[in-house]
Amino acid sequence: MSAQTMTTQEMEQAYVVQTYSRAPFVLSHGEGVYLYDSDGKRYLDLVSGIAVNALGHGDPELVGAITTQTARLIHVSNLYHTEPQAKLARMLVERSFGDRVFFCNSGTESVEAAIKFARKWAHQRDASKTRIVAFENAFHGRTMGALALTPREHYQAPFRPLMPGASFATFNDLDSAAQALGDDVCACIVEPVQGEGGVNLAEPGFLAGLRQLCDQHQALLIFDEVQCGLGRTGNLWAHELAAITPDIMTLAKPLGGGLPMGAVVMTEDVASAISPGDHGSTFAANPVVCAAAQVVLRRVSDAGFLGHVRAMGELFHAGLEALAARHEIVESVRGLGLIWGIPLKVDAGPLIEAGYQRGIITCRAGARVLRLLPPLTIDQAEVESALEALDDVFAQAG
Ligand SMILES: *Cc1c(COP(=O)(O)O)cnc(C)c1O
Repeated sequence: MSAQTMTTQEMEQAYVVQTYSRAPFVLSHGEGVYLYDSDGKRYLDLVSGIAVNALGHGDPELVGAITTQTARLIHVSNLYHTEPQAKLARMLVERSFGDRVFFCNSGTESVEAAIKFARKWAHQRDASKTRIVAFENAFHGRTMGALALTPREHYQAPFRPLMPGASFATFNDLDSAAQALGDDVCACIVEPVQGEGGVNLAEPGFLAGLRQLCDQHQALLIFDEVQCGLGRTGNLWAHELAAITPDIMTLAKPLGGGLPMGAVVMTEDVASAISPGDHGSTFAANPVVCAAAQVVLRRVSDAGFLGHVRAMGELFHAGLEALAARHEIVESVRGLGLIWGIPLKVDAGPLIEAGYQRGIITCRAGARVLRLLPPLTIDQAEVESALEALDDVFAQAG
């Protein structure tokens, strides 16, 4: 077969390392909450590129900011000052518990950076204080440090030995956390809403209890808000549901508006342990991603925008509860804002495929949980058509 006659899917299968099993179509463009494939078929996007496209597709302000900055300056590295990075850091600090920000290029990189910063902070106090506590069903990323904190056997097994010093406790179980914490712990990392692990909400009292345990053992509390942060829960930060703040917060998915970007927000206490040369990144926070992130952050932190996310979340909640009552295969629904998990009595795979036929894009969070992460800009009519399509998909599978 000559290269000229190969389809996109054939080329992907021939030339790209097979780390993903992809959906059976080729996406070509998007507008608002809709994606279009190369045959012109339209899909309602209920995944947002895994919680990334918070403003939907082709948002004019976002595209304008990226286009303008791209023409002016794309990249210079972090050896030089650039205004978009400095302004974005100030915006993140003004809107969070944090005092300073470290920029990187992805979620897993933000977790790697958080691990290094916690280790450095603890090293100055007691060099043996190296252990990190994470939780069952957590997902923190795929690189070696983050993977060590992601206790899934089939993710970890072929790659051992992993970073030593990771311990695990049961999510939403303070007794289990208290057993895992100790004075040799430098940090405890938790997702306020576990995403990949099935859309599991941390109870406010659990997060507050972790804060106390960390203080008791002089350990840092890290919130991984890579998926649940930046407006997805209907609050700017998922941890606002608990009346406490972490020492470190990792961010990524929606931050760059679809361009690769991660960030680690931290207190001055943590930042003061870090010196030039301790960590870095060639690409991080280039002027283009920072111009994009300024638009995203300004928009998603607007009170009216967050109110919209909560209102659409309530529509989803009511609609999904009604579907759960009507369809045998649906066990329950859980979530808030615009992150929803739908535990099923069957494997989610065939339902996702049926969704494609019906013109909706959904994803999974584990074998039997269907997950919805629509653009935060989704409107009432679009929520209603999503619920109608899900009704058909459940009816077909049931
Ligand atoms: C996706 C995710 C990561 C990893 O992000 P990547 O950008 O894929 O490396 C880390 N933590 C959480 C909570 C995530 O959802």
